[in-house]
Amino acid sequence: VTVSARVIRSRRVLAPDGLRAASVHVDGAGRIAAVAAWDAVPAGAELDDAGEAVLMPGLVDTHVHVNQPGRTEWEGFASATRAAAAGGITTLVDMPLNSIPATTSAAALQAKRAEARGELWVDVGFWGGVVPGNQAELAPLVAAGALGFKCFLVDSGVDEFPPVAEADLRPAMREVAELRVPLLVHAELGAPIAAATAALEAAGADPRRYATYLASRPPAAEESAIALMVGLCRESRARVHVVHHSAAGALPLIARARAEGLPLTAETCPHYLRFAAEDVPDAATELKCAPPIRERANREALWRALADGVLDLVASDHSPCAPALKRREAGDFAAAWGGIAGLQLSLAVTWTEASRRGHSLADLARWMSAAPARLAGLAGRKGVLAPGADADLVAWWPERRFVVDPARIWHRHPVTPYAGLELSGVVGTTWVRGRQAFGGGEHAAPPAGAVL
Ligand SMILES: [Zn+2]
Repeated sequence: VTVSARVIRSRRVLAPDGLRAASVHVDGAGRIAAVAAWDAVPAGAELDDAGEAVLMPGLVDTHVHVNQPGRTEWEGFASATRAAAAGGITTLVDMPLNSIPATTSAAALQAKRAEARGELWVDVGFWGGVVPGNQAELAPLVAAGALGFKCFLVDSGVDEFPPVAEADLRPAMREVAELRVPLLVHAELGAPIAAATAALEAAGADPRRYATYLASRPPAAEESAIALMVGLCRESRARVHVVHHSAAGALPLIARARAEGLPLTAETCPHYLRFAAEDVPDAATELKCAPPIRERANREALWRALADGVLDLVASDHSPCAPALKRREAGDFAAAWGGIAGLQLSLAVTWTEASRRGHSLADLARWMSAAPARLAGLAGRKGVLAPGADADLVAWWPERRFVVDPARIWHRHPVTPYAGLELSGVVGTTWVRGRQAFGGGEHAAPPAGAVL
């Protein structure tokens, strides 16, 4: 007999076997003890009834730049995790840059963990960084709790996180393979970007035009980077994960690597799935990111790749900055910070576009809960609504529509390209390990998120 501390139920629970009325029983440790009949509520149990809302596993967002310490004025643990909870995300994994120090040593990871204490509304894990010369830090980082690593093949935008070359990657990937964690890669090579940029400057191309920015980061930068990573993956057998994939032309390279049995996965982001280059107004620097948002046909190819499983998951790549750095007044794409803020809206943006193309709630849960949990080594514990997993849940209404109001965004800065858009998918309540983190428009106090 299971002693039930709490029961969360709904007429529409997205369990592994489909959508049905059910009750989720949470044990004293915040784990799912059982998924039972809707009316199987033991006497004395604390009941959270989500009514007709869809109850599904909370989202796991494996690509978030929290930036604290060092650039806390861009984003911090409290603001990012409040936004996450309000957006149905119950676990996020922080990127090793743009904080100072960058998470490239065990000491830097400890500094982040200390900053995060008491500031988390959802659970948070950390990626470490692979940079030139920090190979001796990789094992200590994993021992200190890093879930894996991230590296750049091109300038990252910040000086403390330099890119790696093939000569750095070869020994690092042997080490990463031994540590049995993934290496996440910003897959663009610098040479095609430098060549394109030089040609645009020589031609006097206008930096306020989106077409200029798009042309400065050609698909060849992604294609050549992925070709390099496929080769190194084959050599080292290290788990490689391509972050924020944009170029449709490189998808066959990923598909072939998978068919060959290589341990290579890839993600794309809500902004690549929503926007298209043809629709980006000139000077709209809130839409600058790298790689860039490409054409409409490219966007549809990304959707097909998600459906076919060539792309495994959707992560936000929430990468905010101080608003002035977006240079919105000047509208200069070359000078603006590259990064899109969208953490809180990730679920609604992706669902709005997915449902329009006939995808199901089960697809959404696979792309945004189960697959990212697997990437972070949290399979079975996070991202799944099944006995034994943490009771990380979201109750939401996929069919309810809302207009994005920056005043209701919990990110540190409300700058977002989604402002004013009408989206489908309103989050009602978010639970982290069985405790409400967000509900009725408000956050629980005190925060109950933990460092993973
Ligand atoms: Zn990023």
